[in-house]
Amino acid sequence: MTQRKLIVGNWKMNGLQADGLQRTTDMLSRPASKSDIVLCPPFTLLGLLSNSLKQTAIKLGAQDCHTEPSGAFTGNISGAMLKDIGCSYVILGHSERRQYHLETDTLVRSKAQAAITAGLIPIICVGETDTERSAGQQNDVVSTQIKGSLPDNAHKDNCVIAYEPVWAIGTGKTASTADIAAMHAHIRTLVPAGMKILYGGSVKAANAKEILSTPNVDGALVGGASLKIDEFSAIAEAV
Ligand code: PEP
Repeated sequence: MTQRKLIVGNWKMNGLQADGLQRTTDMLSRPASKSDIVLCPPFTLLGLLSNSLKQTAIKLGAQDCHTEPSGAFTGNISGAMLKDIGCSYVILGHSERRQYHLETDTLVRSKAQAAITAGLIPIICVGETDTERSAGQQNDVVSTQIKGSLPDNAHKDNCVIAYEPVWAIGTGKTASTADIAAMHAHIRTLVPAGMKILYGGSVKAANAKEILSTPNVDGALVGGASLKIDEFSAIAEAV
């Protein structure tokens, strides 16, 4: 039997209460999905979605967490807080956090460790830039990121990897299925057996079937298209 795909919607910094609720209600009105679905709204909508998603098959995730469970860290949110509000997952080390918040592999690893301790499943993002791929360095870059960001106690049931080539995020460009297959096979050699490896980078309804049927692709991390429920739902049902 083939494993169910994991389809994660990263809403990024999008959504006010009214449209967040509308999107969630729309999602819940659809027939049971063939995939496991996680919605990752901004922090401000976690409480609202947590209420709506209670006792449904759709899981809740956040987009970042701190390394400490509590303390004098103004403006930050801990894994314990996310767990408390109903999250099961947290996206960590997204390229936008690595770029705009200067997050390093070491920091991502500490956050992932904190998330696991809090009972959350971190979705650790890795991926090369355009320049790195042009220089043929993509495998080395991703190896370094995985070795540096994955906690020692990570295993297939407490952690997920998302391969997101930076040049494919929000650009409409997707990696070719040959490149996705090559990178996912490479990542498979670096992570504990059975760990889920998601692909992210301009996934949409039109390319989802091809991407999700690529070997070693266990699901997708979806940004822009997750804000359009028809599109997101079509991705989840494209398996
Ligand atoms: C993302 O932000 O994780 C992402 C993959 O974005 P998009 O689908 O818009 O490329």
